[in-house]
Amino acid sequence: MGKLDFITQEIEELKSSGLYNIIRVIGSSQGPWTIVDGKKVLNMCSNNYLGFAAHPDLKKKAIEAIELYGVGPAAVRSIAGTMELHNILEEKLAKFKRTEAALSLQAGLIANLSTIPALVPSQEDIIFSDELNHASIIDGIRLSKAKRVIYKHLDMNSLENALKENEGRRKLIISDGVFSMDGDVAPLPDLVVLAEKYDALLMVDDAHGEGVLGSHGRGIANHFGLDGKVDVEIGTLSKAFGVVGGFVAGSKKLIEFLKQKARPFLFSSATTPADVAAVIAAVDILENDDTLVKKLWDNAKYFKEKMKDAGFDTGRSKTPITPVMLGEAKRAQEFSKKLFKEGIFAQSIGYPTVPKGKARIRVMISAAHSKEDIEFALEKFTKAGKQLGVI
Ligand SMILES: *Cc1c(COP(=O)(O)O)cnc(C)c1O
Repeated sequence: MGKLDFITQEIEELKSSGLYNIIRVIGSSQGPWTIVDGKKVLNMCSNNYLGFAAHPDLKKKAIEAIELYGVGPAAVRSIAGTMELHNILEEKLAKFKRTEAALSLQAGLIANLSTIPALVPSQEDIIFSDELNHASIIDGIRLSKAKRVIYKHLDMNSLENALKENEGRRKLIISDGVFSMDGDVAPLPDLVVLAEKYDALLMVDDAHGEGVLGSHGRGIANHFGLDGKVDVEIGTLSKAFGVVGGFVAGSKKLIEFLKQKARPFLFSSATTPADVAAVIAAVDILENDDTLVKKLWDNAKYFKEKMKDAGFDTGRSKTPITPVMLGEAKRAQEFSKKLFKEGIFAQSIGYPTVPKGKARIRVMISAAHSKEDIEFALEKFTKAGKQLGVI
């Protein structure tokens, strides 16, 4: 017996249950058509909602920033890594999100790990979390010693009962805004009311809402007419914004506090000038023009409607995220492989990203897709669906 035999065994288990990740390699910029494993295919699974990942304005600003500021920040934000660009981005993000202030971080995941343990660190505190919250929220919760109560997905009775039954020094309710695997949306007006009634802080992770929901893609709070009513808004710069990074938006007080307390801000280096400059360009485009957001929704509505007409189960999505429900992970993997042969890149997703038996292909529609692209995808999904007996 070798010391690493457990790894061999666990890998075998993943493979036999269809849960082994097949990692494909991208050989071009991210676009509607992308080179994947050496083959040019229609990209239906990147989070490039608005086509910003290779947008000419973003590329230009990134290159200019490298010329001016170099490639690395060479420090954490709190020592020598806060560049002018970070402050410009944070002002623009706050304005975009209609909050008093914002703090940019290295990733959306990092934004959750930064915020949760800082706000509710102690075992006297209590966290109320939706059962389908994103893994990075779960990991943020794990970094805190607070008591945790998991409420039923989107179920406000379940949350209210939990709030009635559990007291704590500080209370924090956390929900995804748009749930990343199903595309359904948190009932934000009810969450705001309950947070107020039970004197709890409300934190919403808007990773799939920014660039998508609300006027000009300002996100879930704006979508519900609740600008500034969410205590802590978490965001990512890695999805619709097209680059990489994360942020927190909220009151000046909150952001001042996180700059003192958030461990990833204090102990991990800042984002690079190129990344920050590119995100600034993305925010500027969105502030000035909502054409891409509208195109995204047109594309998504069309695709979803046609998939339903073809007989696919596209779940409960209310957003451009379109899950194609396939049941067992092996079937989803097989479907994905078939699509790839036909020129469609759409990865399968299984446990633990989604519950067991709820494997799927999660289609991510982009504003960069043309009508012909979408027709092509519909044709290939239908063909594969028939061959595999899904429809
Ligand atoms: C994708 C996602 C994240 C992580 O964002 P990154 O910037 O990729 O780290 C966090 N929360 C939710 C809800 C997400 O969907």
